[in-house]
Amino acid sequence: ETALNDMKTPHTIAIVNQKGGVGKTTTTINLAAALSMRGKKVLLVDIDPQGNASTGLGIPRAGRESSIYDILVDGANLMDVAIKTDVPGLMLVPSDIDLAAAELEIGNAAGRTTRLREALTQAQTGEGTATDTGRWDYILIDCPPSLSILTVNALAASDSVIVPLQCEFYALEGLSQLLQTVEMAKANINPNLIIEGVMLTMFDGRNRLSGQVAADVRKHLGRAVFDTVIPRNVRIAEAPSFAKPVMMYDPDCAGSLAYMALADELLARHSRRKSAH
Ligand code: ADP
Ligand code: MG
Repeated sequence: ETALNDMKTPHTIAIVNQKGGVGKTTTTINLAAALSMRGKKVLLVDIDPQGNASTGLGIPRAGRESSIYDILVDGANLMDVAIKTDVPGLMLVPSDIDLAAAELEIGNAAGRTTRLREALTQAQTGEGTATDTGRWDYILIDCPPSLSILTVNALAASDSVIVPLQCEFYALEGLSQLLQTVEMAKANINPNLIIEGVMLTMFDGRNRLSGQVAADVRKHLGRAVFDTVIPRNVRIAEAPSFAKPVMMYDPDCAGSLAYMALADELLARHSRRKSAH
């Protein structure tokens, strides 16, 4: 093996849905933690101005010295912004409320859609840094609830997209607009971008509607839907207030098992994809 083969190319995944409250942040935190627990080196990039992923991983607003804002607006080096979390193997680029203004500030600047991609590439090649922590197996990007320039930056920087869908009546509403945005990103800035999968979440087995929606989504989207379904589980909702991923809060609860299963399904897909090449 050559040194070049040893250099990992991370798989970058944007967690996208322009609707709020569908489980993007919850999925980003817990999938990132689950992949770390499977021995992967993971970076979570929080590009939602609300910063819920940062808070949920125990980095309070006051504790954020620098953020994704500095990267996107001021061209800061990502390795100077990324910090370790309490989850072994998981690093975080925190968000900041200032990010809400970033959209305006980078609005017409050149290369406005590819700033995150450039920052990640630079960190990966280690340029400007002398650290071995600049190498990740997975980079997960928690997107804001919009199809803004921030989300487009995430799409430009990603290999694939995971779309969480809540098992409720309007689950598919807005999906065609989202898929259009992905197609646009593909056509203009990122030809290799794929939809990794649609992920059903907040599934309630006691609620008939939940089951009907899940069946409906599978009928429409077929193999694009992950086999793993995330149940509605109170432990998942409680974990962020203890600044922990759910598996570090209650490892045996249904929510923890489901997110571990999601990570395993993703890893199995990727190793199949690799061996097919
Ligand atoms: P988004 O990032 O898409 O806005 P969140 O991940 O913040 O959505 O989830 C919205 C709310 O739903 C949060 O309060 C979260 O704790 C809760 N939640 C998410 N997934 C689940 C789940 N599987 N079971 C129970 N509550 C959940
Ligand atoms: Mg969120």
